[in-house]
Amino acid sequence: MLGKGKVYLVGAGPGDPGLITVKGLRVLSQAQVVVYDRLLDPSLLQHAAPDAEQVFVGKARGRQALTQEQINQLLVDRASAGQTVVRLKGGDPFVFGRGGEEALALAQHGIPFEVVPGVTSAIAAAAYAGIPITHRRVATCFTVVSGSEDPAKPESSIPWDVLARTGGTLVVLMGWNALESILRTLGSQGMAADTPVALVQWGTWPQQRTVTGVLADVAARGRQAGLEPPVLAVIGPVVKLREQLRWFGPDSNTAGRPLWGKRVLITRSRTQASRLRALLEAQGALPLELPAIEIAPLEDCRKLDAALARLNHFGWVIFASGNAVDSVFARLEGLGKDARAFGGTQVGAIGPATAEALARRGIRADFIPARSASEAVVDELSKRPWAGVPVLLPAADIGRDVLAQGLARLGAQVEWVAAYRTVTPAGAGGQARQMLDQGVDVVTFASSSTVRNLLELLGGDKAALEGSLIACIGPATAATARELGLPVGLVSDEHNVEGLVDALVRHFGDAEIPPTHLYERGARQGLP
Ligand code: SAH
Repeated sequence: MLGKGKVYLVGAGPGDPGLITVKGLRVLSQAQVVVYDRLLDPSLLQHAAPDAEQVFVGKARGRQALTQEQINQLLVDRASAGQTVVRLKGGDPFVFGRGGEEALALAQHGIPFEVVPGVTSAIAAAAYAGIPITHRRVATCFTVVSGSEDPAKPESSIPWDVLARTGGTLVVLMGWNALESILRTLGSQGMAADTPVALVQWGTWPQQRTVTGVLADVAARGRQAGLEPPVLAVIGPVVKLREQLRWFGPDSNTAGRPLWGKRVLITRSRTQASRLRALLEAQGALPLELPAIEIAPLEDCRKLDAALARLNHFGWVIFASGNAVDSVFARLEGLGKDARAFGGTQVGAIGPATAEALARRGIRADFIPARSASEAVVDELSKRPWAGVPVLLPAADIGRDVLAQGLARLGAQVEWVAAYRTVTPAGAGGQARQMLDQGVDVVTFASSSTVRNLLELLGGDKAALEGSLIACIGPATAATARELGLPVGLVSDEHNVEGLVDALVRHFGDAEIPPTHLYERGARQGLP
């Protein structure tokens, strides 16, 4: 016989495969034998080594594949043969999983073992249904009980009379068959008939379903809804909190996720849209991309080339956007030059994205203003000496000139040069109409030109934007929108996409239930 192996009693968590512990996953990947039950997401088994033996010991079509004694013996035999065994069990191995019996069998045979606790369905299924198992002043204790014994039977050893009066939360596992009897017994032992109850089926799985009611009617509701095991019952006043906290699955609500399900139109160019899209998606919004602007190379590059040919002449080159950086470098490359062309000048970048674009080319900006709105930039620039300093400003062909004028006022010799063109994409008009017809909650504008271009795409039809919140990235964009007759609903004060999304979150967050009001609402609904 080989030296003794080892058995790990591992909790797999309640269903969502992300809820296994880090340690559980590690030992699973090292096991030579995996002994597992029903109620495990099969994807967890993919973490086992390809040559590991997998033994299913759960119930198959109502029949137990192996008796508990046979399972115990299997664990003892494999470990005695020197193998590393993972006994993978749903939820936590010691919560009604007969994990204790398996551990005792191993101890009796002198087999080394470790327990890796798991997330129990008793707490996690409630949590995924939006029910905190305890809540200050609402429930200060919780009890988890097995409902596999019918309380009507004389041999029942569960003190239902005590459980009916804890005032805390009661979670019943394995109670589906005897549900009516259990709830009736709790009622007859003094639990109020209007005590809230939730039945959670397949908690934490994608197919999770929850049926709520009160002690007196929830069983009928659950049967009517066609629930089937695995189901657990959560009984007590915390169940009420679900009305505000249900965050998971198709019946989740929007509390705490203000942009949830909101359709947000992005009008930036495709290359610039991805960051805004990612930020919106992270907040649960549904971004719709309408590239109302496209960046195109200049038709006539002579002015730009001439400026780039005498870069050493400028004390400063200030880039207003990532597009300006990209276009200038594309042109430099065409002229056979690289970043060293900026060796003799200082370089400024308006906004972190512009600074990043420069950094990708090996240039660390000498000046990055704290805020990117043109007025604020000029304010910050005014702290430096500009008298007589030649400054090159490569920008869009239709660039806004607050920056150029501000620098000129400070005494700089400003040379503004177009580095790229912005064009309205052909054929985007029909797409714009279609999106707006289907309903758009928010229209975002990240520059003045996107405002102009969208209206151009709509043939000047401002009414098409009625009912959508107009959200602008900064004051200059908002000014353009107002000039063109659009009601601006929101202006970001950060002048970048992060600021824009923050402002949206604040806007919709305030309009709905602010988290601080949740408790007051709970109180109005009869919670203590
Ligand atoms: N050890 C497990 C419980 C085993 S008893 C744990 O800690 O979660 C099995 C019972 O748990 C089932 O009858 C059912 O009542 C409950 N259960 C397990 N997983 C569940 C899930 N995902 N959703 C709802 N109930 C679940």
